[in-house]
Amino acid sequence: MKYIGAHVSVSGGIENSPVNAYKIGANAFALFTKNQQQWIAKPLTGESIRLFKENCAKYNFQPEYILPHDSYLINLGHPEEEGINKSRAAFLDEMQRCEQLGLKLLNFHPGSYLNKITIEECLNRIAESINIVLDKTKGVTAVIENTAGQGSNAGNEFRHLQYIIDKVEDKSRVGVCLDTCHTFTAGYDLLNEYDKVFKEFDEQVGFKYLRGIHLNDSKKEVGSHVDRHASLGQGFLGLDPFKKMMKDPRFDNMPIILETPDDTLWKEEIALLRSFE
Ligand SMILES: [Zn+2]
Ligand SMILES: [Zn+2]
Repeated sequence: MKYIGAHVSVSGGIENSPVNAYKIGANAFALFTKNQQQWIAKPLTGESIRLFKENCAKYNFQPEYILPHDSYLINLGHPEEEGINKSRAAFLDEMQRCEQLGLKLLNFHPGSYLNKITIEECLNRIAESINIVLDKTKGVTAVIENTAGQGSNAGNEFRHLQYIIDKVEDKSRVGVCLDTCHTFTAGYDLLNEYDKVFKEFDEQVGFKYLRGIHLNDSKKEVGSHVDRHASLGQGFLGLDPFKKMMKDPRFDNMPIILETPDDTLWKEEIALLRSFE
């Protein structure tokens, strides 16, 4: 079964996110558990946590299909001590928020080397960050998202993801999220080489580590290393790869999340994807 949703708003309180997801016909969703542009956030209130859980139950969203996303400020591969310590503390806070909400996954962009260290050193730091945080938490899986490789972002090659996973001690609590736009602009041609791309992913990372999908069309060409999402069918990917994915059982039973730019289209986009199943 396919679990499809979007990265919905938490405006007015985190407890509104399942309601927003229900309104667009979703059976999965993504959210920020704190303001994504700030380092420090107020703790979640008991009331907010209670209402969030209540609304998830009411609208039938199970924790397995909810994919929280961490703050964009966090860089778990930061080359400097101050930056990495701050990032690790903020990531721990995000993991603990997920624990409080009864959630099982936390999606994050691996990190950036900021042209100060090698990619390999950056990946080592990311793996160490994951180990530190997993050690202090329970029940939440760290879900590494592949990137477009824009700027100095690591994680654009499947082998980067494999390299990190290889160094994580608790393999049961590490996974990956593939973003279709990032995959494409990182240089994997999902449009013309669908089978080859996922074969490569399976060989280098393994579908057993796949915990979620970000389903986005791309405003930029294959291999451009630019991270610009487009609404479905309005970019360089078009609808073909998404039709294949909807029929592909390898993407069953995981959150498939739209991060497309026009939220007024989400309901239609979800219905469109359902029509491809
Ligand atoms: Zn994404
Ligand atoms: Zn993106």
